[in-house]
Amino acid sequence: MKKISILGATGSIGTQTLDILREHPSEFKLVAISVGRNLELARKMITEFNPELVSVQEYHDCNTLKLEFPKTKFTFGDEGLVEVAVYPSADILVNAVIGSVGLNPTLQAIESGKTIAIANKETLVTAGHLVMEAAERNGVALLPVDSEHSAIFQCLQGEQEKTIERLILTASGGSFRDRSRNDLEGVTVKEALNHPNWSMGAKITIDSATMMNKGLEVIEAHWLYNMPYEKIDVLLHKESIIHSMVEFHDSSIIAQLGTPDMRVPIQYALSYPDRLPLKSSQRLNLAQIEKLHFQEMDVNRFRCMKFAYEAGKKGGTFPTVLNAANEVAVAAFLDEKINFLQIEDMIEKALSKHDLILNPDLSIIQEVDKETRQYVYSLL
Ligand code: NDP
Ligand code: MG
Repeated sequence: MKKISILGATGSIGTQTLDILREHPSEFKLVAISVGRNLELARKMITEFNPELVSVQEYHDCNTLKLEFPKTKFTFGDEGLVEVAVYPSADILVNAVIGSVGLNPTLQAIESGKTIAIANKETLVTAGHLVMEAAERNGVALLPVDSEHSAIFQCLQGEQEKTIERLILTASGGSFRDRSRNDLEGVTVKEALNHPNWSMGAKITIDSATMMNKGLEVIEAHWLYNMPYEKIDVLLHKESIIHSMVEFHDSSIIAQLGTPDMRVPIQYALSYPDRLPLKSSQRLNLAQIEKLHFQEMDVNRFRCMKFAYEAGKKGGTFPTVLNAANEVAVAAFLDEKINFLQIEDMIEKALSKHDLILNPDLSIIQEVDKETRQYVYSLL
């Protein structure tokens, strides 16, 4: 039986991870979780799964829950995330927290030898070089949860890195895929949150609408698969049936397909190298779908993707700036403090102001992340 810990258990990926645990009680046991501020859901999880350790974001919530569940161990804050990440009896850490707050716990989990199922792409964007170096040094596997990266991982089983010609990430196009740039003026938060294919947390849904999500995923793929940016392409595919593809040097392309259901890549990361049944997932019926559509990506329409490629290619601290500026700008849009197109303006300003630092260590990454956040706040 594999013992599982989850950072961000109350989120979209976290709750779907618990669905997988429910479906396979003899395969997986939950031992530790972190939640943010959603105590109501945390209480239900503690009652149902009885984890040994629970971390909450706020100190006072920790005290509240201690009184209600005297047999459970509670902790809180950023240190609580690390405690969950390195929890001794866990075999696999599912990192499903949102944002670069996931970086330090991921690094600590790697140092303590945990296998990491990584959903938290911001961690790989902000400091992919540190994460990959630590994983290699400790012989730790980083198993992708993001559907595109899981698709690539599945396509690469039994293949050799030297035979890869390019990776092709598919993109649904997000909430505004059928709108022109002019039509993006004045779109509301509610419209942006209405994703056509996937039901996800608020931040990633906005990232999908700006196409920053695909930009972050390009950087994520660069690190996970050691691929130069010139060999990572993005293709618009509005049905989200082909989750991504790999082209090999003999011209063969291998794709992974399925109905859009995040539980499939989550389960694959947990069961790898095995495959477990997933009875509740809807089967793909291609005859019923009839047609799949593909379209070239227009980087002038989706400027965030262009910023991400540029930041990735420059390397060093640029992806850290890209990510931090995006996190603050998206939060400001969700709070209705800025309009939709200002998200990319703020990211562009933060990037153009930044001077590259190559091979940044953790303290430089944290400093640049903080400075960028302060700069974008000052623009609000
Ligand atoms: P959600 O917003 O749904 O969930 C985020 C989780 O993190 C919640 O448990 C939340 O707690 C917790 N959290 C938020 N901020 C903090 C903080 N400062 N400290 C501690 N905990 C915090 O996000 P998603 O599940 O959508 O996404 C999680 C990650 O997975 C992201 O990196 C995203 O890009 C990636 N991903 C998500 C996909 C999806 O389908 N949702 C698909 C592919 C990747 P609480 O709610 O209790 O406050
Ligand atoms: Mg994805």
